[in-house]
Amino acid sequence: CPLGPALLFVKTSQGKEEGRRFYACSACRDRKDCNFFQWEDEKVSEARLAAREEYNRNHQPSFTHRQNVERYKNFVLLPLSKRRFCQESEWEKHSDHQFLCDISTAQLKSPSQLLYPLENKKTNAQYLFADRSCQFLLDLILDLGFRRVLSVGTPRLHEMIQSKASQEDDFRVRSLLLDIDFRYSQFYTEDEFCHYNMFNHFFFGGEAARETCRKFLYQGNGERVIMVTDPPFGGLVEALASSFKKLMAMWKETEKEGHNNQEMPMFWIFPYFFESRILEFFPSFSMMDYQVDYDNHALYKHGKTGRRQSPVRIFTNLTPSMIVLPAEEGYR
Ligand code: SAH
Repeated sequence: CPLGPALLFVKTSQGKEEGRRFYACSACRDRKDCNFFQWEDEKVSEARLAAREEYNRNHQPSFTHRQNVERYKNFVLLPLSKRRFCQESEWEKHSDHQFLCDISTAQLKSPSQLLYPLENKKTNAQYLFADRSCQFLLDLILDLGFRRVLSVGTPRLHEMIQSKASQEDDFRVRSLLLDIDFRYSQFYTEDEFCHYNMFNHFFFGGEAARETCRKFLYQGNGERVIMVTDPPFGGLVEALASSFKKLMAMWKETEKEGHNNQEMPMFWIFPYFFESRILEFFPSFSMMDYQVDYDNHALYKHGKTGRRQSPVRIFTNLTPSMIVLPAEEGYR
C-alpha cells in the first residue's frame, strides 16, 4: 500500500481454533485512512497488481523531499509579506485551509508550532511534548553524555535540538528525525529527516535514506547515540518492537569493534499499562517513574492543570540509577 509493506494479521472468531490470516496497512488502524486488504492465501490478478501500483504512485506526495528542500531555500529568500504557509498540508487543494502570513525565520525553526498536529487517533496520533517534558528529556540526554539522537516520531525533541544547535556554538548534539509525517520534509534536509514508517521499518526514500540513517548511527569519534521514540499509543507493540530491533541491528552493524554485546541505548515513551508487553520484547528494559506531559492532549497534561495525571512513562535499557528525575517536580 502507499505506506510500504503491509502486515500480516489474523482474524479470530470465538469458538474457532484458527483464524484466517490477511494483510492490511501497517500504519493506519482505520480502514478510512487506508483500505488495503488481502487474504493471505488470495490469488491477486495481474490487473489488480497493476491497479495497486498505479494507486500507490498516485498517493505519493506531489513534491519530493529534494524539491521541498529547494522550495524552502526559495521561501527564505522571499520578503516577509510574501511568506505564506498552509498549516494543513502541502499536497492537497488549499482552498479551505488556514494560511499563516509573514512567516519569520524563527517560526521556520519551530515547525511543530507552525503545523497543525495530526491528531487522528488511528494513524498519526500526533501529541506534542509539553516544553517541560521535552527539556527534561534533552537535559537527561546531555547529562548522560550522548551526542546523537535518533528521533523516531519525536519531532518536537528533534526541533529543540536543531534549534539549539543553530543558536549555540558550543552545543554539539545532533538529531535525525524519522517520522511518517512528510510535512516535515519542508523544513529539514535529507540529512536531518527521513520519511519513515515505524510499523514496518520502511524508508520511503529508499536505499539513500536508509544509508543516511546508517551513517547517523555510526558512532565515529566516540559520539554516542541514543534512540528516542514516542509512537502512537494505539500501535501494535509487536510491530513497533520488530522495527526497533531492526534499527538496533543497524546500529550494531555500523560498529566495527562491536559493543560487547550491548544494545543501542533507547528511550521508548509509552503508557505504563504496556509495561508487560514492552518487557516481553525487550526484557532488558525498565520503566521509569517520570510522567511525560503533552501540550495538545486534554487528558495527558501535567497533574496540576490537566484533568488527569499522565499515564505516559519512559522505558529504557539504560541502568535506571543513571536517570535522575527532577526534584523540583517532586520526584525523589
Ligand atoms: N511527543 C512527540 C510526538 C509524538 S506523536 C513530540 O512532541 O515530539 C507520534 C509521532 O509519531 C508523530 O510525529 C507522528 O507523525 C509519528 N508517527 C505516527 N505514525 C507513525 C508511523 N507509522 N511511522 C513513523 N512515525 C509515525
